[in-house]
This record gives sequence, C-alpha cells and structure tokens, in this order.
Amino acid sequence: MIRIAKVIVDVAAYPVDRPFDYLIPADWHDLIECGCRVKVPFGPRNVLGFVVELASETDVPLDKIKPITQVLDIEPVLTEEMLRLAKWLKKQTICYEIDALQVMLPSALRAKYEKMVYLQAELEQLDPSLASFFQKSQKINFKQFEKQELLKELKQAIKKGYVRIENEVKQQGNIKEIRKVQIHVDADYIDKIKQQLSKRAKKQIQLAEWMQNHCGEIFAPEEIYEQASVTATVLQALIESGAAQFIQEEVYRAPFTKDVVQTMALRLTDEQDQALNQITAAMEQQHNETFLLHGVTGSGKTEVYLQAIQQALQDGKEAIMLVPEISLTPQMTERFRSRFGELVAVMHSGLSVGEKYDEWRKIQQGKVKVVVGARSAIFAPFQHIGLIILDEEHESTYKQEDAPRYHARDVAIWRSEFHQCPVILGSATPALESFARAKKNVYTLLTLKDRAKQQALPSVTVVDMREELKLGNRSMFSTSLIEGMRERLMRKEQIVLFLNRRGYSSFVLCRDCGTVVQCPNCDISLTYHRYNEKLKCHYCGYDEYVPQSCPQCQSEHIRFFGTGTQKVEEEIYKLFPEARIVRMDVDTTSQKGAHEQLLDIFGSGQADILLGTQMIAKGLDFPNITLVGVLSADTSLHLPDYRSGERTFQLLTQVSGRAGRHDLPGEVIIQTYTPEHYAIELAQEQQYEPFYLREMQSRHQAGYPPYYYLALVQVSHEDVIMAAEYAGRVADYLRSNLSFNVSIIGPTTASISRLNNRYRYQCLIKYKREPNLIDTLLQLIKIYRTDWSKKGIQLIVDLDPSVI
Ligand code: ADP
Ligand code: ZN
Ligand code: ZN
Repeated sequence: MIRIAKVIVDVAAYPVDRPFDYLIPADWHDLIECGCRVKVPFGPRNVLGFVVELASETDVPLDKIKPITQVLDIEPVLTEEMLRLAKWLKKQTICYEIDALQVMLPSALRAKYEKMVYLQAELEQLDPSLASFFQKSQKINFKQFEKQELLKELKQAIKKGYVRIENEVKQQGNIKEIRKVQIHVDADYIDKIKQQLSKRAKKQIQLAEWMQNHCGEIFAPEEIYEQASVTATVLQALIESGAAQFIQEEVYRAPFTKDVVQTMALRLTDEQDQALNQITAAMEQQHNETFLLHGVTGSGKTEVYLQAIQQALQDGKEAIMLVPEISLTPQMTERFRSRFGELVAVMHSGLSVGEKYDEWRKIQQGKVKVVVGARSAIFAPFQHIGLIILDEEHESTYKQEDAPRYHARDVAIWRSEFHQCPVILGSATPALESFARAKKNVYTLLTLKDRAKQQALPSVTVVDMREELKLGNRSMFSTSLIEGMRERLMRKEQIVLFLNRRGYSSFVLCRDCGTVVQCPNCDISLTYHRYNEKLKCHYCGYDEYVPQSCPQCQSEHIRFFGTGTQKVEEEIYKLFPEARIVRMDVDTTSQKGAHEQLLDIFGSGQADILLGTQMIAKGLDFPNITLVGVLSADTSLHLPDYRSGERTFQLLTQVSGRAGRHDLPGEVIIQTYTPEHYAIELAQEQQYEPFYLREMQSRHQAGYPPYYYLALVQVSHEDVIMAAEYAGRVADYLRSNLSFNVSIIGPTTASISRLNNRYRYQCLIKYKREPNLIDTLLQLIKIYRTDWSKKGIQLIVDLDPSVI
C-alpha cells in the first residue's frame, strides 16, 4: 500500500498555495502524522514542510512523486484544530497557509533553530534490535535514528512508554542541562565491589555503602560529592561499573525571577458577582458566548477573570489570558501566579527563544493550565480550553501587522467555537466595533460601573497650554501641574508623569535652512538618543552619529527639538532637585529584567516620580499614586489613523486610571493644546458612552468602521515610478471588478511614503457589503504572485488596516 503525505512547504514565494504530495517511505508509515514537520525536496532544494493530510492516493504519477527526506518530529507539533485554524486564517486574512502554520509555533520550531529530540529508554523492556541502539548511551538523539530501519519499533516503544521523548532547543548558552545520577545498587553489589576493588578503593567502597541507603533515588552529582564526601572521579568509576547511571532531566528555563505569595479569591462586589455568574453559566452550558466586560479602571475586572479561570480549572479545563504586550508587567503576571502558582505559563517578547519554547512545551504537555501572554499566546496548544480572555481588548497590539494579519479577537472567537467555551473581552474603553456589537446583542454586555473598593474615580483637570503661554509660562509644565507635584512631594505621595514619546528629543533641525535630519532609507525624521549620542530610525533601525553641521547648508546652528523623556527628567530636576525619579522608556528598559527592576524601585517607595512613555499607561496598581500628569495629550491625536480620537480617549482614560486606586484620592492633570477636541473633553468626564456616541457619529459621517469596512492594498518598489505605475494598475483592477457601491480611494502615497528604500503607494477600499471582494483580491494576488513579484513589486493586502 502506498502512503502519501500532503505537505504545505515553506516556500512563500511560490504562486500556488496548496499542499504538495510526497511519498512516505515504508519505514515511516507509522511515524508520520498530520501536524508533523518534515523536510521535502522542492525544486533543487530541501525545504521545511508541514504534513496536513495523509492519503492513499495521488494524482501525481508514481514515477514522478518524491519521497519525504527527513522527519523532524516524532509527535506532531500542530493539532488537528490548528491545521483547521490555519486554513481559516489563510482565507480570513488572505495569507499563505505556511505563514498561518508558522505563526502558531514558537520561533524555535520554525526553520532557523534546531530542535533536539532525545530518546531515553528502559533497556530491559525493549526488543533486542532496538535496545542495541541504546546500549552505549541511555539518551540518544532522534536524528541518529532517522536513517535506521527501526522506526516502527521505536514508535511502538514510545507508545508503550518504554522510550521517553525529551525535547530541547539549543540556543547560545541558554539551555540548562542538568545531569542527575540515579542509583541502583543492591546488597550483592556491595560485596562484589569490595572484592573487586580491594584496598586501593576505600573511597569507592565508602560511596557504594552510601548508595546502598539511597537505592532508586536521584541526586545531582554535587549532592553526592557532598553527602558521601567523595570526588567526581570516584563517582565516575562507580558509574562505569554500573552501580549508578547518569540520567538527563528535561528542565525548563524559568522565566520568573521572583517567588510569589499565594492569594485567595476576594469576596466579590454585587456587580462583579453578577458578571461572574453569567460567565460561569455559559461555561457550564458549554456555550461559546462572547462577553464584553465593560468596567471602569479599578472596577475589579481582573478579579473576575481570576475567578472565572478558577472555575475553568475546577472543571478540568484550561484558560488563555491575553494581555497587551506593554501591560504584561511583572505585577500583572504575579497576580496570576499568586492565584494559580505552578499552573501558569507566561509568553511574551521578553523571553529568549529557548524560554518561549519551554513555555510552549509546558502547555503542549499539559503541565500548565493557564497561559498569560501577549497576542501570539492565542495559539497556545491547549486541548480542552474552558475560557479565553482578552484584557484591554481595544488595544491595537492585538492586531498583527505582518502576514498573517490576524486579530487575536477573531482567533479567540474561532477557538471558542471549536472548544465550545465563552470568551471575555474586557476593557474600560472598549473598541467601538466591540461596543457596537454588544449594543446589537452579538456580544453579551457585562458592566462594572463602580470601582471595586468604592474609591471615587480621580478628578480630572484639563489645562490649556496656549493659555499658559499667554501668561508667559514657556516650560513644559503648567502652573497647576507644578503645584500638584510640589504638594505630592511634600506629602510623600507618588506621581506618574506620562509622555507619549521616546528618546531625548524627537528630531534634529537646522535653524538656518530648516532641514530636519532624515533617515536615508525612509521618509521619517531620525530620533536623537542621548545615551549613545546617536540618531536612530525607529522604523528600519538605521543609526548614525549626530552631525556637527547641517548636511544641507553646513551651518553649525543645528540642534535638537521636541520633548523626550530625558529632557523632561532634566526639567524636573531643575524644578525639584531632591525628587527621586524613575524613568521608563525604550532606552531604560531594553535590558532584560530592567522593566521589573524599575517598577520595584517605584513600587517600594524608593522613588517619588515615575516618568514614562506608553509602557506606564496600563496595568500599574500602586496605592500611593495620587497624581497623574499627562504632559502632551495631543500627540496621539495627530496620527494618520482613523482611530486617533478613539486612541487618545483610551490612552487618557487608562493613564488616569493609575491614580487613586486605593485609599488615597487621585487627581489627574491633562495638558493639551487642543482642549476643545471632543476626545479630550470627554476623557475629562471619563464617560465612555457619550464618547462612544460622539465618535460613532463622526465615523458614520466619514464612512469608517464600524459602519463601513476597510481593506487596504499597498504596493511598494525600490523605484518610485514602478511603484506608482503598479499602484495605478491595482486601482484600475479594483475599479473594474468591484461594484459601484464600493468606494476606492487612491492610488495615494502611503503615510510613510518610503520605508527601507521602498516607495509605497496604496488604495483604500471602503465597503458595506461586497460579496465579490475576497475573490477579486485573491485574483489580484494571483496576478501579483505569478507576474508582478518577478519585477520586484511587493503587494500587501490588509483587511483590517488601522494606519491609513
Ligand atoms: P481592573 O482590572 O478593572 O482595573 P482590578 O481587578 O485591578 O481592576 O482591581 C482594582 C483593585 O481593586 C485591585 O487592587 C484589586 O485587588 C481590588 N479588588 C478587586 N475586586 C475586589 C473585591 N471584590 N474586593 C476588594 N478588593 C477588590
Ligand atoms: Zn541647514
Ligand atoms: Zn529608516
């Protein structure tokens, strides 16, 4: 009987996106399952592929079909669910299936890194031919096996549990290889060894006798040296004689640096209780209901999550808890670890490749039941999900901006249908789309109106910086903010200052000719970083030393403009020389663990002021913060994003929520040059619904979501004329294939018109209902993949674009 594997290959440039048929060599019939990674010949190369289907027939003539050359996994790395999800993602986001498959795995399992699969066997139980492989070493690499004929026996032995699989990902010194010693001596053995070794080996006898009392136990070698007071040579000799053996344990690198204190479930407020009851009812009925938990900051949403997860665990299920990357603070993960202890895995970008793999593996092996993670944790390989939560569901980081361009919210809802479990979307400022769906009863709305400990929301003052200027105040601090800070410093209360920028100052400008120093690769001005005296492009990573004179006119009157965190820090020291400041931005937190350390310093009261960028807007919960100052509320209003008003409102609400969370009342001072903007006016009142209504009105007028859908087609090329020409072709194609109800804007230059030396043009599609859209886009992509890509064109389709 022939066996065929249908394989999705890692060749994304290939125009046809379908599985290819490969022959499974007879020895591997039992070994290869769907979801395993393999190496297959593709053209002149050997490439990585995923087995997505097994078959006994193929249309490829048998003399043409090529065999799989290598099996990379003994156990599948992707489940049936994941293979289905990949198909859906491919359709939903218009991406290559290979991209959808890869995104679900930790990077260690994508092509670049090598996974070692070790096998550890109980020799006595094995069939002799197989046992002979393990004779020399108890632990051998699976690779040694691949070319052998014994794969069938091996697979059987694994099924019966006689051979254990251990995986590890090697990565620069990151792996902790723990060697342990297992002891198996008996009384006879001691006699034997005494005779054999005679007088010379007093120490060996001493060790053998010690071992007699520890038969079957496992020790680290160091423990044995100490307890039996022998050296490594003595132990080595005994191991060679067979009295003990080295074994290897699969150890996980621990991503946590601190121990936590166990906490118990709090007694819920009535509002919390009602919300929890509806959620647990859905869990009980195995109903894939989506809840929108709308609760003001500090209303105790997290406590509701914790108790809902508790319920899932009691039902023998698992839970996925997503938080935006920037609020995945140590404080946040600690809350989960202190409730669920060792059952929690954590996934975020701060982990090394090896650590990420270990966390993934713990999930896959069922060693943990809860994952707290950023966007990609939505693909956690749990098999019995009881609950999925997205905290701060409005956050833009839930949308991936590379292929596959998926939104974690959509994947969560897909998985909840598969697992028949509820989803909670939580936020103090829900995305307009989500709130609109809740109003239409697509989502079930749960509301927490009050703060959990009955604290009042902080009082918010908006300061018009134009008025300050008229009064002769040219500093970046308004009079009321300075006064507010002075009071807090005197009362030994804490202050948070929020600035939506990074670096020392945002740009370098020539005062004679007005030139702003730009990135040579992108249409973006470079940012000055003081710590290394360099100018850096935040888009492509280019950097250079600050020029001594203007590159245009050679004038020496070239200087830094704008306001960055370092500048603010200096200004504060001028005003309050004694203030102790913790500054948090990309520069101070780039080291591993720095984020945590800085927060510890502030949290333990060793600093008075926490000054930072976006990364301090969320999640912080410190009792002594009574003043929050927003230095420049407008920054986020002027971004080329139809959601900029919404983003500003969300940001201001979030950062205000850091004040007065415990016993002390909080105050918020928002500085702005546009106090009349409704996003700022309504943020002051901290009323979500009036903002929602006002923003919906403007979206309706402008024809934006949630009233209309958007799709963006972007074309780029190194040559500006080529880019413009093909963008024109895209527009023509769309106009001749889509109906008249659809409006097509463009081609226009993209908001960043050149990135990494590529010129970028785009067409924006606005539509309400267009059954033809996906097919049209697929056709367009086909033309691009078969023809345009050869000419160096790059074409991107985004069905849920934000920056436009
Ligand atoms: P949110 O996630 O909505 O911002 P949190 O869950 O962080 O709110 O709760 C805010 C504060 O209130 C935290 O310090 C939390 O421990 C506390 N808290 C939450 N629920 C309760 C409760 N039922 N009883 C007492 N304190 C609570
Ligand atoms: Zn100049
Ligand atoms: Zn650049």
